[in-house]
Amino acid sequence: SSSKPKLFFKIPRWPRMDSTPHHRKTNHNHNHNNNNKKKDKIVVIMGATGTGKSKLSIDLATRFHAEIINSDKMQVYNGLDITTNKIPLHQRCGITHHLLGEVDPVLHDDFSPLDFRNMAGSVISDIVSRRKLPLIVGGSNSFVHALLVDRFDPVGDSNVFDPSSRSFPSSTLRYNCCFLWVDVSMRVLSEYLSLRVEDMFDSGMLDELTEFFSEFPSRSGLKKAIGIPEFENYFKKYPPHDGGDPVRTEEAYMDAVREIKDNTCQLAKRQIGKIVRLKGAGWDLRRLDATEAFREVMSNSNVSGSEIWERQVLEPSVKIVKRFLEE
Ligand code: ATP
Repeated sequence: SSSKPKLFFKIPRWPRMDSTPHHRKTNHNHNHNNNNKKKDKIVVIMGATGTGKSKLSIDLATRFHAEIINSDKMQVYNGLDITTNKIPLHQRCGITHHLLGEVDPVLHDDFSPLDFRNMAGSVISDIVSRRKLPLIVGGSNSFVHALLVDRFDPVGDSNVFDPSSRSFPSSTLRYNCCFLWVDVSMRVLSEYLSLRVEDMFDSGMLDELTEFFSEFPSRSGLKKAIGIPEFENYFKKYPPHDGGDPVRTEEAYMDAVREIKDNTCQLAKRQIGKIVRLKGAGWDLRRLDATEAFREVMSNSNVSGSEIWERQVLEPSVKIVKRFLEE
């Protein structure tokens, strides 16, 4: 197609509203919820893949003196930056990111929820000790759950997201959490995800996959990343060493891309199901509806999607976090 899809990839540099680290003065103040009195405050951004969590995290981190901890199970690994949608360095606006591309996918091919709980837990302590605000961002709800519950049982808790299971996620958390849930209606999100996949291929995803397949890592934590299983047939047919330019009109290529789009939508649906289950279990998630902003950004109208995003997602989020830090 001639016109490039409009995406939220470009992150404007919002002016900083207030550079005072609110939590510095309020960390141990009174709190309506006695259970939360002595717990460290953290902000958690949840949402399905593609809903703009990374964008929101940068907008909030620059305002509230925060450091970001990634909670996407594929993005913790080093490699496949385009395929796994890591936020590029130039969009991070100088904000420190933790557990983003830090784990070697071959040496540590099974980075588990328990590993995440332990590593992210010590990063949170460190951030708090430096009087900054920890901001958890990522779509892996099993990671978020493992990190936050007061007691985590890697075996017993493994089915808390299973819709047919009677074991529910615990609502007793080890931090004082402010949850933001960025939601986009599935109809609009699936249209957007399809554009995003095309944009990822325009940005060099095929080269990245070619390199991955040419190294044949028999064990790699990234083996399950969306893009790898889907391209297996293609690279069997067109081995990566063969040199020749990949034929994008080739049926095997088009099948793989279609599968990636489908599987990304399936992932988004499963993620939303898990978020709803956490909410049902009593997690106090504040839902922000970004549907209109996404619809606008994809349409050809003159209204800027960013304006709607600011009004309907960013501003309410800023208010919620501000109030939380002042409690
Ligand atoms: P599950 O326990 O079912 O793996 P989860 O909540 O632990 O779910 P999700 O983040 O939902 O983890 O990821 C599930 C699967 O979705 C991953 O194993 C991977 O196949 C795919 N996936 C998740 N995030 C990404 C990503 N950033 N890039 C590519 N694939 C991803």
